[in-house]
Amino acid sequence: MNAAPKEWKEQGCPTCRAGWESGSRVALRNIGTSYELHTRLFQCAQCGAYWEELERYAQEVSASDAALFEQHKSFVPNAGSQETHSK
Ligand SMILES: [Zn+2]
Repeated sequence: MNAAPKEWKEQGCPTCRAGWESGSRVALRNIGTSYELHTRLFQCAQCGAYWEELERYAQEVSASDAALFEQHKSFVPNAGSQETHSK
């Protein structure tokens, strides 16, 4: 039996949830991207939770799911520079 999906308030910590809610994502480090899966992987600097950002929403994922995602053939690690949205 699969575990029920976590409620939003049970995912990550208030810091990373606030990041998704506000869109500022200051506490969220982009680990990498899969364009094939239309998913970006983030980790919260505060609580260490892993997050997948899908096209329409973000959800917390387990460390093992994050590791699997990083091993996906389409995964492109973030080179280190934060995405900059220049004006
Ligand atoms: Zn967090």
